[in-house]
Amino acid sequence: MIIAAARVVTPTRVLAPGWVLVEGDRVADVGEGTPGRPADVDLPEATLVPGFVDVHVHGGGGASFDAGTAHDAAAVTRAHLAHGTTTMLASLVTATPERLLASVAELAAASEDGVIAGLHLEGPWLSPKRAGAHDPALLTEPDPALLEALLEAGRGQVRMVTLAPELPGGLDAVRRLVAAGVVAAIGHTEATYDEARAALDAGARVGTHLFNAMRPLHHREPGPIAALLERPDAYVELIADGVHVHPAALRLAAEAKPDRIVLVTDAMAAAAAADGDYRLGRMTVTVRDGVARLAEGGAIAGSTLTLAAAVRYAVQVAGLSLADAVRAASSTPAEMLGLQGIGSLVPGHRADLVVLDEQLDVQRVLHRGRWVT
Ligand SMILES: [Zn+2]
Repeated sequence: MIIAAARVVTPTRVLAPGWVLVEGDRVADVGEGTPGRPADVDLPEATLVPGFVDVHVHGGGGASFDAGTAHDAAAVTRAHLAHGTTTMLASLVTATPERLLASVAELAAASEDGVIAGLHLEGPWLSPKRAGAHDPALLTEPDPALLEALLEAGRGQVRMVTLAPELPGGLDAVRRLVAAGVVAAIGHTEATYDEARAALDAGARVGTHLFNAMRPLHHREPGPIAALLERPDAYVELIADGVHVHPAALRLAAEAKPDRIVLVTDAMAAAAAADGDYRLGRMTVTVRDGVARLAEGGAIAGSTLTLAAAVRYAVQVAGLSLADAVRAASSTPAEMLGLQGIGSLVPGHRADLVVLDEQLDVQRVLHRGRWVT
């Protein structure tokens, strides 16, 4: 199948016009201009971009990964797939050790089945001072025994863990995760600049939702934000929904490290679903006009974003180029996780692509070589 379009966004440049040849579930070829034979699908107004890769997402379509069932996991991925997200980690919020172990075991099976691309544990080793929507009563210091049990329950599917490195045992946990091939992320943290640097020196490579739930940047105590932005090999997640981060903060991060920003949704169950009351772990979250807040205290509690909406916001409001915004939602997160063969429109990669119209709204989604919308 040849799909021709006004623009095709590849890792190196935007082909205008361009085309993609799909064979089976793979991209077989990509080219500029008009294809050698008539296109099977001709989209003269559209832009083709790779399927989006979301490394931080808790739910969507009314369902949540925290439920810890394969059924709910499938509902979340279906909801986001309709909006162009073709690969995602399942992010779990802080819960009791028993609950986490059960969810990890169940979702590891979903990951082995290819429903999700792995697990991201956000908590329970987070700073109580930066708990955000995590249940403060369940936050603990890193516990080596629990860490081992979670890795074992995950059977290699735990790909990322967010923790506050300044907690006692935090750096040891970072080192253990890195040794196990897991991405260690700094987040929900009161770490000073020096403490954040120590975590990066220990192998941490990611800042979880940069700016949110961390010590803010101060000129005499620049904290984790400066430590992450100035470290060339560190990636930073950004929630580009117009609620979590000011567009100027988004631009600042994008200019500091154009190849290392990762757009994430941090979406909860209300993404691609209606306003109302939802659960996030043990907490009640009320969603009004698409903004999710804790019922008690009113802290923002995840987003109702889709990654397509984040890309649109990054381009139309924050002013990033389409190529930069798309890269931050596809090839960069894939590279961050070491996921091979996804995230770019290049020969050999999985045929995951999204058709965007001129307003960057999702028109169609191709997943593993098949149209799903
Ligand atoms: Zn968070």
